[in-house]
Amino acid sequence: MLTILQLPVLNDNYIYLIHDPVSGETAAVDPAVAQPVLDVLNQKGWRLTTVLNTHHHSDHVGGNLELKQKTGCTVIAPLSDLHRIPGLDRGVVDGNVITLGTHSAKVISTPGHTSGHVVYHFADDNMLFCGDTLFVMGCGRLFEGTAEQMWHSLRKLKTLPASTQIYCAHEYTQANGRFALTVEPDNRHLQQRMDVINQLRADHLPTVPSTIEQELATNPFFREDSLALQKTIHKVNNTPVEIFAEVRRLKDNF
Ligand code: ZN
Ligand code: FE
Repeated sequence: MLTILQLPVLNDNYIYLIHDPVSGETAAVDPAVAQPVLDVLNQKGWRLTTVLNTHHHSDHVGGNLELKQKTGCTVIAPLSDLHRIPGLDRGVVDGNVITLGTHSAKVISTPGHTSGHVVYHFADDNMLFCGDTLFVMGCGRLFEGTAEQMWHSLRKLKTLPASTQIYCAHEYTQANGRFALTVEPDNRHLQQRMDVINQLRADHLPTVPSTIEQELATNPFFREDSLALQKTIHKVNNTPVEIFAEVRRLKDNF
C-alpha cells in the first residue's frame, strides 16, 4: 500500500507525496515549492527519493532544485522538456515505467496544456497523477496544444478503470462545477456533486481526489456524448473534437 499525502501550496496547487513504507522510498509530484515538502519529510522521517514532474510550468517544478540539493533525489520529467525543467535527471516518454519501491507507474503522454505534459498511472494502486491535464470537472487550458491533441489525451484517461483515483494539481473544482452547470444544467449527478463540493469548500476541505467514474458523470470535457450538453452549446451534429473545442472555448470565456 502506498501512503499519499496532499499538501496544499500557493493559491490552489497540490503537491503529492507518495510514500512506500516497505522500501522507504518517497516521491514528490509537482513540487511547486520545496519547504512544505521538506517539513513533511522531516516530520515523518521520510527520505525523498524522487521528484515526478508532469510538465514544465513553474507552479509544478519550482521546488525541484532545492529538493534535489537537500535530499539528493532524482528528478523524473518529460524528456521533451529537458531544456526547461530544472534539475531533470531522467527524461521519460509515453509508455515508460517508473518505480517506487515495488510499485510502478506507467508514463502516459498527454499533450495539450503543454506540448510535453505527461501523467503517471500507478495501475496496481489504482491512482493517476495527472497534473494540469484533467481536473475535477475540468481540464487544463490549451497553452501549447490544439483541442484535437487535448481531446486525444483526455480520451486516454477516460478509458482508464472507472475506480481510478484522480490526483490533479489544482483545487479548481468549485469554479469548474459552476461552469459545468451552465452547459449541463439538468445533469442530476452534477447538481448533487456540487452540493457536496460546496459543503467541502465551505469547510475548507479538498475536493481532490476524484475518480474516473465521477468525472464521466459530471466533467463536461468527458461528456461530448451528452445530447443535453450538445443542445445547450448548439453543437448537435458535430464531431466529438468540435464539441470538446467549443466547451473549452466557452470555459475560457466563462
Ligand atoms: Zn500548468
Ligand atoms: Fe499548474
